[in-house]
Amino acid sequence: MGDCLFCKILSGDIPTELEYESENIVAFRDINPQAPTHILIIPREHIATLNDVRKKHRSVLGEMQLAASKLAEKEKINIGGYRTVFNCNEDAGQSVFHIHLHLLGGRGFRWPPG
Ligand code: AMP
Repeated sequence: MGDCLFCKILSGDIPTELEYESENIVAFRDINPQAPTHILIIPREHIATLNDVRKKHRSVLGEMQLAASKLAEKEKINIGGYRTVFNCNEDAGQSVFHIHLHLLGGRGFRWPPG
């Protein structure tokens, strides 16, 4: 989609090392990591926010979460624990409008989040 940062990563216009890729999703490290492991998992399809998710997206969302748990294992944060987060719109602090699942780990997290 025209100006979307993550679509530019997907097209290769913004060169980015991928941690994982499949027919439907890709994963790469966050440019401004908030934890020792901070990986973003995104669908190849441009979906702006969680509000735009439809029934047809069920399997890609499942694939994203499954990739997060596999990547957590690869990063060796699965036993200590990790957090997966989707931010949706302004109140949650979404800044890139192409849905992405944050995988964060390697340190302790507070609850409730700030
Ligand atoms: P959110 O605030 O939930 O929309 O998250 C967007 C995330 O994208 C932020 O954590 C940014 O640090 C990250 N980000 C922005 N540009 C890039 C980039 N070129 N490569 C990797 N991560 C990025």
